[in-house]
Amino acid sequence: MSVFSLAGRRALVTGANTGIGQAIALALADQGASVTCAGRRDCAETCAAIAAKGGIADEMILDFADPMAAREIFAGAGYSILVNNAGIIRREDSLEYTEADWDAVMDVNLKALFFTAQAFAKAHLEHAPRGPAAVVNIASLLAFQGGIRVPAYTASKHGVAGLTKILANEWAADGINVNAIAPGYVVSNNTENLRKDADRNAAILARIPAGRWGEPSDIGHTAAFLASPAAAYIHGAVINVDGGWLAR
Ligand code: NAP
Repeated sequence: MSVFSLAGRRALVTGANTGIGQAIALALADQGASVTCAGRRDCAETCAAIAAKGGIADEMILDFADPMAAREIFAGAGYSILVNNAGIIRREDSLEYTEADWDAVMDVNLKALFFTAQAFAKAHLEHAPRGPAAVVNIASLLAFQGGIRVPAYTASKHGVAGLTKILANEWAADGINVNAIAPGYVVSNNTENLRKDADRNAAILARIPAGRWGEPSDIGHTAAFLASPAAAYIHGAVINVDGGWLAR
């Protein structure tokens, strides 16, 4: 069997109805994982796309309006892969930034990510014999850079990088690989306004050595790799998948 194979593994991807999460679900299924596509709304499109390629998928409503929403979902369910992808961004000058926007972003991007990972690891560690397990967190270039007018997003994504490292430190010895992907500028709902703004779009493209926006599948393939035995010795890494943006 290929060292990249996920055959026999059960995976859960948050925010799998669209964009990067959808591409991650497809990439995991392509490698043979059975994928639960979780979202605050239905993931029928993602499940249908997986089924059309002969893969196995089911869906789950999981709304991080309650950041503790995942605490009961893993027990006894046999998941060995978790991808924490759900995330939101709220843009406003830091002088005007509201507590409501701060809390909304932190709840989804950071608090929900931590407690979902905690619930996943508890369930995995309760069941012997344990096979390999992996948590893949979706961070951002704003885990490394400051950005502008996105204070909660930047704080949350720096937090995702930090949590990735501490959870790797605590869980590596138990066979759980915890890593993160920092996507660059990727085509999704999240970046629609940036792409529509001709000046911003041109400025962004001018700085990307690869000369193009990222596709969601660029992130999907990296997530599938990090979840696989091929990445067994990678712990606590935050891997930028950015067309070379950070190298400039
Ligand atoms: P997206 O199309 O906006 O997708 C975000 C996903 O998160 C959607 O499935 C969304 O559901 C879900 N979500 C939002 N609030 C939620 C909640 N309360 N409960 C459960 N799910 C919720 O954006 P994307 O670009 O694919 O983003 C995916 C991840 O990549 C995010 O963590 C984002 O920060 C990160 N990222 C993206 C880029 C980029 O360039 N696109 C760059 C760096 C990092 P709905 O569809 O219902 O809103």
